[in-house]
Amino acid sequence: MYKSIIIGTGPSGLTAAIYLARANMKPLVIEGPEPGGQLTTTTEVENFPGFPEGIMGPELMANMRKQAERFGAEFKTGWVNSVDLSERPFKLQVEGHGELVAESLIISTGASAKYLGIPGEKDNVGRGVSTCATCDGFFFRGKKLSSSVAATPRWRKRTSLPASRRTSRWCTAAMNCAPPKLCRTARGRTRKSAGS
Ligand SMILES: Cc1cc2nc3c(=O)[nH]c(=O)nc-3n(C[C@H](O)[C@H](O)[C@H](O)COP(=O)(O)OP(=O)(O)OC[C@H]3O[C@@H](n4cnc5c(N)ncnc54)[C@H](O)[C@@H]3O)c2cc1C
Repeated sequence: MYKSIIIGTGPSGLTAAIYLARANMKPLVIEGPEPGGQLTTTTEVENFPGFPEGIMGPELMANMRKQAERFGAEFKTGWVNSVDLSERPFKLQVEGHGELVAESLIISTGASAKYLGIPGEKDNVGRGVSTCATCDGFFFRGKKLSSSVAATPRWRKRTSLPASRRTSRWCTAAMNCAPPKLCRTARGRTRKSAGS
């Protein structure tokens, strides 16, 4: 039985791992399909405190992992198929490792960006194609951009994303080209987005 298990090795999972390892909670960290999380898919990260010149995403995540390992966090790779939270200790079914049992559990499974699947898209991630408006809007100040948004207009209003053909805080013009099939609400209903 583990004192603590963390699912996910993005910034949140590894931050938890550093704290728990230092608190002698001997965490087991399960990496899943994307070791290091989403930041390993990007180039320069400019908004993490402590890096005035920026740092490459994969390097940042490798450093976080080293820091967690230094304090004794243990790592396993595997997909967590299910978690039983109905009683303690918690039970996890993990591909390749069977059932793992933990007194406490931190779920840091993050998210993954939805791509459109259009030609050249993946090749240009970090070179003009971005999946994070808050992270990368700064790089596109004064530029024309096209946004494709899988979100309801209400959600978009609360974020920094530009609405169709409206000037945002960063860009001079925006064209929203969200395909309706991407515009699903959390409840799975399809809605037409403002600009589609
Ligand atoms: C291209 C790109 C560029 C970005 N640039 C920036 C930036 O410059 N600045 C910034 O602040 N943010 C940026 N972001 C956003 C940032 O990456 C995320 O906010 C951050 O990674 C979220 O961290 P997280 O720990 O919550 O989860 P994630 O990084 O999403 O990690 C999730 C982890 O959970 C694991 N996992 C998921 N499901 C399972 C399962 N069932 N079993 C086992 N493991 C599982 C995955 O393998 C992964 O390790 C960018 C994102 C992308 C895609």
